[in-house]
Amino acid sequence: RGTSAGPTLNFKAVLLGEGCVGKTSLVLRYIEDKFNTHHLSTLQASFVTKKVTLPDERRALLNIWDTAGQERFHALGPIYYRGSDGALLVYDITDQDSFQKVKSWVRELKQMRGSEIALVIVGNKTDLEEQRAISYETALLYAQTVGAQYVETSAKENEGVHDLFELLTQLMVEHH
Ligand code: GDP
Ligand code: MG
Repeated sequence: RGTSAGPTLNFKAVLLGEGCVGKTSLVLRYIEDKFNTHHLSTLQASFVTKKVTLPDERRALLNIWDTAGQERFHALGPIYYRGSDGALLVYDITDQDSFQKVKSWVRELKQMRGSEIALVIVGNKTDLEEQRAISYETALLYAQTVGAQYVETSAKENEGVHDLFELLTQLMVEHH
């Protein structure tokens, strides 16, 4: 299209969180608008890009890094999130342990990256409301105390997913 689009902004965002919380499902929903009931193959590409147009008409390239399942072996280190502009810290609202894991990721990221990385905590699987283990208020309060945003999603029902990535992009632009 037009010739006045200007340079493309380039952002790296990583997904972090315990295995099975729905990280790959969120990416799949956002990029391809699909959902899979099976745990998604670790062989699936762990890096996807999406072109987005910002509200001010600038173009941005979103590089989204998803784990290849290494989190199950506690083998995700600084190399994975190095140079990232934003992180989605995902947990499953029905799983206490996965929320604790988010807290430990927040501590690590704060220590390693300070405030130079935009943080969004994501409570996924809101379609399982009757099994909820962490209240919205608890998660929101925690996010506020660490300077992160809080969003709830259902990759399954396609709730909040698009807004999540839009918010992430906006935060990375502001951090830029
Ligand atoms: P990952 O290990 O964090 O990448 O998690 P996956 O995306 O592989 O998902 C793990 C399991 O949770 C799969 O069985 C998915 O179908 C399921 N899942 C993912 N998102 C949702 C959701 O929003 N609601 C429900 N009910 N299940 C989900
Ligand atoms: Mg995965």
